[in-house]
Amino acid sequence: APRLRFAPSPTGYLHVGGARTALFNWLLARKLGGQFLLRVEDTDKARSTDDSTRAIFEGMRWLGLDWDEEVVFQGANLERHRADAQKLLDAGKVYRCFCTTEEIAQRRAAAEAAGGAFAYDRRCDKLPQDEIARRVAAGTPFVLRFRVPDGDTAWEDLVHGRISFPNKDIDDFVILRSDATPIYNHAVVSDDIAMRITLVMRGDDHISNTPKQILLYQALGAPLPQFAHLPMIHGTDGKKLSKRHGATAVGDYQHKGILPQAMVNFLALLGWSPGGDFDEVMTLEQLIEGFSADGLLKKAAVFDPAKLEWMNGQHLAKMPIAEAAALLRGPLVAAGLTTDAWLDANTAWYHKLLELLRVRARLTDELVAQSTPYFTDDFAYEADAVAKQWKDPAAAQALLEACGETLRSLEPFDEATMEPAMRQLAEAKGVGAGKLLQPLRVALVGSAASPGIFEVMALLGRERTLARVTRAVT
Ligand code: GLU
Repeated sequence: APRLRFAPSPTGYLHVGGARTALFNWLLARKLGGQFLLRVEDTDKARSTDDSTRAIFEGMRWLGLDWDEEVVFQGANLERHRADAQKLLDAGKVYRCFCTTEEIAQRRAAAEAAGGAFAYDRRCDKLPQDEIARRVAAGTPFVLRFRVPDGDTAWEDLVHGRISFPNKDIDDFVILRSDATPIYNHAVVSDDIAMRITLVMRGDDHISNTPKQILLYQALGAPLPQFAHLPMIHGTDGKKLSKRHGATAVGDYQHKGILPQAMVNFLALLGWSPGGDFDEVMTLEQLIEGFSADGLLKKAAVFDPAKLEWMNGQHLAKMPIAEAAALLRGPLVAAGLTTDAWLDANTAWYHKLLELLRVRARLTDELVAQSTPYFTDDFAYEADAVAKQWKDPAAAQALLEACGETLRSLEPFDEATMEPAMRQLAEAKGVGAGKLLQPLRVALVGSAASPGIFEVMALLGRERTLARVTRAVT
């Protein structure tokens, strides 16, 4: 079965690009019945933090990207990285290089000053055996360099098709530093072999690493995985996504009221398309079902926050009501609007409220804000709505009082009865229905926008409806 992995470096939060890479690997693994593994690439001790590792785990859990097997921490594999390097040394695939960092920097500067690019000249590969032995015995520090063979290094990329690099453009790269710690490409290959990864899917920015990694696989005598390099993610201005474009941390969207299923749906379409005409709003099951490497796209993906919010609204409106109710419970309780016990005792009412509100909200935050006047009688009137709808206070009061009168004796107190009664009242008062109902709406929920006013009144019930009319006229 295919084995895929997500290999984040824990040097920051989980950003949307990383989450997209994780998601694609996860989707393909789930689609193909394979394994999805997580490897934390914590070898850069100066930049890696436990907080970042935790943030990555939390982000993945929030998105529902569960991983198989134990998390692999790259730093724990140091002995194997060294053993693989030794294997390459024993096989004559790498050589000891005694040139110091300063010497290399000098030569690089000289080459660049002369208008050329620096390439290691292999001088240490030409040292006689006894000289090498002497330096090793004397404890002279050395790095291990890979002896890049002649020819080309190519692979069939699942996104880009055939990619080929002339080996002459690949410098004899270091695989092990003088302190015996591995260079990134070596650690990745050693780990991917040990984890029996069959498909490496990662960002485009790794394309230049891939030929070096392929050379390492070949030198280690390991079968090559497949490679898929995902397009970069751009902002709506066409520039590489960065903090300038707004929030790039997955956690920021979580805290903004984006639902994980909307985030997943949105991320899935950043560089993938099921092809043909399709409904962009998909559940996780539909994404797994439809996902395949064939649908991976080459061109840069555009991260449009407005589309994410739209997507969120779509999920909010379409998910099973019980699921929406469970999702919103936490935010509603956290906002101090209600309690778990109260919601448990009033499930039908709560579901009805959500049915009314969710088709109008894009973010859960908006929904929580809009639900305030339903949970509490002590809500504020929006200044704009008051200025517009109660412009002539005396006239508004008279109409509200008339509404109160009609509603007080209405039997039964339901939408079907309310609607004709209120229309009749408007007619009797010689005003259009809007002139009657808009001031009433402000009295009921404090704003000029709400779900259908008859549904609102039915949900509030007669007593609370009348109390609100009374509050508005006194
Ligand atoms: N740790 C690398 C990164 O964060 C990923 C390496 C890989 O996927 O091969 O970019």
